[in-house]
Amino acid sequence: MDRRSLIKNAGIAGVLAAGIAPAVHAQAAIRWRLASSFPKPLDTIYGGAEVFAKKVSDMTGGKFQISVHAAGELMPAFGVVDGVQQGTVEMCHTVPYYFFGKNEAFAIGAAIPFGMNSRQMSAWMYEGNGRKLMNEFYAKYNMVSFPGGNTGTQMGGWFRKEIKTVADLKGLKFRIGGFAGKVVEKLGVVPQNLPGGEIYQALEKGTLDAAEWVGPYDDQKLGFAKVAPFYYYPGWWEGGPEVDFFINNKALDSLPAEYKAIVEAAASHAHIDMQAKYDARNPGALKQLVAGGTKVLPFPATVLEASFKASMDVYEEIAAKNPDWKKIYGDYRAFQRDQILWFRFAESRFDTFMQTRKM
Ligand code: CA
Repeated sequence: MDRRSLIKNAGIAGVLAAGIAPAVHAQAAIRWRLASSFPKPLDTIYGGAEVFAKKVSDMTGGKFQISVHAAGELMPAFGVVDGVQQGTVEMCHTVPYYFFGKNEAFAIGAAIPFGMNSRQMSAWMYEGNGRKLMNEFYAKYNMVSFPGGNTGTQMGGWFRKEIKTVADLKGLKFRIGGFAGKVVEKLGVVPQNLPGGEIYQALEKGTLDAAEWVGPYDDQKLGFAKVAPFYYYPGWWEGGPEVDFFINNKALDSLPAEYKAIVEAAASHAHIDMQAKYDARNPGALKQLVAGGTKVLPFPATVLEASFKASMDVYEEIAAKNPDWKKIYGDYRAFQRDQILWFRFAESRFDTFMQTRKM
């Protein structure tokens, strides 16, 4: 009996009994380690790596196992790119902008002040030149990136004192994620790029005057409401920050083709899953925070205007000396311009109308 008629006559149970299993089950067992930049209690952002690892395991029948390690377990939160570049771990889960000190272009792969929102960022990455340009750049660090989550537009953070004018920012010790520090520095802020797991203690001790992390759900878990009463919005430096999986290029190359496809699919799954978690969980947390006494306030328009101008100045300065930035930023900005044009017609008009309805 030939193979085709065997399948036809015996059905899948017979095929498996006869030892002709689908190709993926013939693959060797593989174990990887993933270093996260995030603390374990955050089921949203730390959880993204667990969602990814579980999906990879499920899709390979348990053959490809990836152990997820919280920040500090194998290496410091901000040591994970070095870890992947040197091959200490096969992969990491982090926000690229943390590494702007190596090269400012890292920030464009995550978020830059007054950049794209979550939807627009995914459009640039998957359908524009985003992944192509970023991966050309990340190749210098022996790694390949896969979008691995987005938080959506973030809140502006927790302040001990009200911010009424640009002058109120002068001398403020503010924990702000990654690259945005370069912009707020121009407004007199003293930026601190602390990992998520270290913010609360610094705010409580008074080492910080203000701190931002993500939004209501995470921020409530981290306890910021206990030490700072004013909760500002929006986080204009993070309109749609992307979280990435970085994989060492040799480790990725060594995978069988089926596993490479599984890694890509599991990353896309984790990417969507994280945004859904944030969107579903933020409203409840926001209501609880307000009920607990948190004062939710918009940044004054003058602060937004000054911050926008400072951002554009910073981008010009970087473009003049960093060819990686110049190349990627040019493409990013052109894409963003078109996105803003499109979003203002349908999405924005629709959202604005719906927000006026009582339902
Ligand atoms: Ca943030």
